[in-house]
Order: sequence, then C-alpha cells, then structure tokens
Amino acid sequence: MDTFSYTEAGNVCPLCKRPAICTLYDGGNHKYVRCENCNEFLITCVAEQILSPQPATFLAQYSALSKKSNDEQLLLIKSPSADSKELVHVKWKSRS
Ligand SMILES: [Zn+2]
Repeated sequence: MDTFSYTEAGNVCPLCKRPAICTLYDGGNHKYVRCENCNEFLITCVAEQILSPQPATFLAQYSALSKKSNDEQLLLIKSPSADSKELVHVKWKSRS
C-alpha cells in the first residue's frame, strides 16, 4: 500500500460506524478504511455519502462482503458515476 500518498484522517468506519483508521488518497477521492469489525476496504467519497444515510442492516451487506477480503484482494465500494445517488457497486481490487 506504500504506493499511495496518505493523509491521515481519523474517522469512523462508514459501514459499521465504529472507530476506524481511515486514510485518504487519490486527492481525497478515495478512502482506505481499516476497521476491526469490517476488515480493510476501499470506498470512494461519493459512495460514502450515498451509504451514509442507509440503515445499519443495509450497510451490513457491505461489511459482510469486506470480511471476505484476503491477502490478495480488497473490497472497493464505488458509485456507478460521480453524480449518482443510487446503487453502489462493489468490486475486488488487487492489493499489488
Ligand atoms: Zn466497520
């Protein structure tokens, strides 16, 4: 992960709202979250805004997905487009 330029941004996990280590990269457009409950995952700031008002039961789906990540792949949660307020897509991203 040392290819990214990190900016410390102490925060809570967007999925379970517990304290988590969040670091911004890509000019602040992406957030790398390290959560004891949800494992590690990546989320775009747009996706975070979309997910923020959702109920915990909805967010738990993404948390469950993230827990399936492994040493080779991280969950990436992103919106289909910058101005979308609807579905959030997920895909797996190689750690390399
Ligand atoms: Zn979490």
